[in-house]
Amino acid sequence: MADNLIIAKNVEEAVALKDGSSLFLAGGTEVNRLDSPCCASTLISLGRMGLDGLSVCEETVDCCKGPKKGRFLKLGAMCTFQELIDCEDVPQFLKEACRFMSSRTKRNMATIGGNIGAARDDSYLIPTLIAASCAVELNCKGKKHVYGIGRYLKEKKDYPDSLIEAVLIPLNGAEVLSKRYANTAASHAAVTVSVSLLDGKVRVGAAVKNAGVRRLVEFEELINAGKGTEEELIKAAYGLDMPISDDMFGSEKYKRYILGVTVSDLVKKAQGGKK
Ligand SMILES: Cc1cc2nc3c(=O)[nH]c(=O)nc-3n(C[C@H](O)[C@H](O)[C@H](O)COP(=O)(O)OP(=O)(O)OC[C@H]3O[C@@H](n4cnc5c(N)ncnc54)[C@H](O)[C@@H]3O)c2cc1C
Repeated sequence: MADNLIIAKNVEEAVALKDGSSLFLAGGTEVNRLDSPCCASTLISLGRMGLDGLSVCEETVDCCKGPKKGRFLKLGAMCTFQELIDCEDVPQFLKEACRFMSSRTKRNMATIGGNIGAARDDSYLIPTLIAASCAVELNCKGKKHVYGIGRYLKEKKDYPDSLIEAVLIPLNGAEVLSKRYANTAASHAAVTVSVSLLDGKVRVGAAVKNAGVRRLVEFEELINAGKGTEEELIKAAYGLDMPISDDMFGSEKYKRYILGVTVSDLVKKAQGGKK
């Protein structure tokens, strides 16, 4: 339980104040959750800094493979799940991922920046954001970076005090298909998979409970090389280097099988039933 709450006036103040003893506070649905791993003596509220709203921008993104230029829909990090659902400019696939959060009360509080900041292994949004090739605009102690979401997740621990100012959705026409496996709409997901298909190339993101959330390049390489039959993808899922184990959400075998089959199904669907 935090002792201090600071309401930051602007981004500069928020990033200057952030250190190892503090946490940013967005919607608070993860920070204030019972048994949350987010613990700090000081919370820095981001609510009054104007980090909301949508615009269109041109940006160069630093991806794992180098810089990439593009046109993006820029979503302020403090946009809530419900605001994204209600906004006509937000692509349908992102609205669908926001609806994975079944409680409207929570959707009115939880933010897109907070979901990425929490980086949970049952994240509602991150698999979709990976498949869509999204980027995050970061402020690391006053220095700006625009990183692909895959790079951000990989290197997150290297800049723990960075503030996500905005999330950039490429305006490239890509569609994302997602599937979430949970006992009920309100339960934690065992597996969430998202797949996009753009210019014949497939991109896959997945969250596996207690194992992590990341881009599944292993599947992409197989599929893009024409080796993505259901059988081949199930085999690849069993060989995937992810610490998947038996737990209350399902056995290791179940989660790996579901991953392989779901990637196969979503790719077929994205290809319009071909293959
Ligand atoms: C009952 C319950 C069930 C839940 N189930 C799920 C679930 O299945 N899947 C899931 O993904 N989440 C789940 N959550 C957690 C939470 O609702 C979501 O992750 C939500 O999107 C977090 O957003 P927030 O704005 O409330 O973040 P906060 O709680 O305010 O912050 C979350 C983390 O992100 C950091 N942060 C916030 N904003 C920024 C920023 N702009 N830049 C950098 N860091 C930032 C915070 O410091 C903190 O570490 C659950 C919560 C509850 C209470």
